[in-house]
Amino acid sequence: MSITLRSHRRSPGETHAEHEPPDPEPLTTQAVEQQPAVCTRGLVKTYGGLTAVAGIDLEIQRGEIFALLGPNGAGKTTTVEILEGYRTRDSGEVTVLGFDPRHQRNSLKRHIGIVLQSTGVEPYLTVHETVKMYADLYPHHRPVDEVLELVGLSAKASERVKSLSGGQQRRVDMAIALSGDPELLFLDEPTTGFDPSARREAWDVVKALAQLGKTVLLTTHYMDEAQYLADRVAVIAAGRVVAEGTPSTLGFRDRAKARVRYRLPEGLVPPVGLGSPLGSDGFMEVAVEDTVSDLHRLLHWASEGGVELDGLEVRRPSLEDIYLQLTNSSSGNGTGAATPATEKGPR
Ligand code: ATP
Repeated sequence: MSITLRSHRRSPGETHAEHEPPDPEPLTTQAVEQQPAVCTRGLVKTYGGLTAVAGIDLEIQRGEIFALLGPNGAGKTTTVEILEGYRTRDSGEVTVLGFDPRHQRNSLKRHIGIVLQSTGVEPYLTVHETVKMYADLYPHHRPVDEVLELVGLSAKASERVKSLSGGQQRRVDMAIALSGDPELLFLDEPTTGFDPSARREAWDVVKALAQLGKTVLLTTHYMDEAQYLADRVAVIAAGRVVAEGTPSTLGFRDRAKARVRYRLPEGLVPPVGLGSPLGSDGFMEVAVEDTVSDLHRLLHWASEGGVELDGLEVRRPSLEDIYLQLTNSSSGNGTGAATPATEKGPR
C-alpha cells in the first residue's frame, strides 16, 4: 500500500508518474520474496549542476530496520524519494521489493507505507475515522482497531485528531501508513520534536513493526534513535555512503580503545601513562591500551593513596562520536577519522 499524502519537498518538475509507461510484466511472488527489500547500485541524482546523490550502493534485507544517517543536504531525502518512486534517478539500478520504482511505481505503491515529517490529515475527523478513510482505499487492509492497537491509540479512537498531542498525531500518521498493511515502511525523521517519553513510545511502535516482519527504512538525525532501533545504519555524506554497519560496529567502533576520564584533587600527579593534560572542565581523559589492567592500576593507586577519582568514567566512542568523525572527515572539516571510513555490514 501507500498513502497519497506527500511531502512539501517534492519538486513540481518530477511528477513522472503521470507519464509512466505501463508496468512491465510483474515478477513471480517467489522471485520477489528472494530479493532484498531494497537494492541500489551506482545510484546518481543531480539537480542542475549539483550532484545530490553520487553513486550510492545500498542493500536492505527484508525484516531489517535500516537507518540512513547524514548531515543536512547529504542526499538522504533524495535517495529515499527515489526509492519511494517520487523522484527520478539519473542513473544506477534500483529495486524496491523487487520493483523498479521508476517503471513499476503503481505496483510498488501497494506494498509500501510512507510516514513523512508532516502530513495534513483532516483535524476534525476522529482518529478511527481518519485511519478508516485510508484503510478503505485498500481491498486487503489491516483492521483499523488492530492498527490503532499497534500504534497505541486505541484509547484515543473516538477523539478528534486536532485534540491530540503532537506525539499522538504522529502516531496517527504511522497508523495511516500501516492501514494498508505494507511490507516496507519509510519513516522520515519519525521523532523530530518529540519529548523524551513520546520518543520512547514511538520507538516501541517501530520495534513492534519489526516483530511483524516489516522492513523499515528510517532517516534520523538522532544517534540514540539509530542505536536503539536500527539493525544496520548507513552514513551518507555529500551524496555517498561513507560507512555502513551495525550501530555497535560502525567505523570499527567496537574495536576502538576505551577512554578513561576522571578528576584528581589539585596538585596530585596520576600514575605513569594514565594522565593527560587537564581539559577545560578539570578532567583528565586518556585512551587506554588494556582496559582491565590499566583501570586496575588506576584504582589500586587511588585506593592505596586514599585518593578520590571524581567523576570516574570509562567509555568507548559513542555512535555519535563515530558519526561526527565520519561526517567531518568526509566533508573536509575534521581532523581525519582514525577509523577506516567503510565497513560493510553482514549480508
Ligand atoms: P536533510 O537532512 O536536511 O533533510 P538530506 O540529506 O535529506 O538533508 P537532500 O534533501 O536529499 O538532503 O538534498 C541533497 C542536496 O540536494 C542538497 O544540497 C539540496 O539542497 C539539494 N536538493 C534537494 N532537492 C532539490 C531540488 N528539488 N532542486 C534542487 N536541489 C535540490
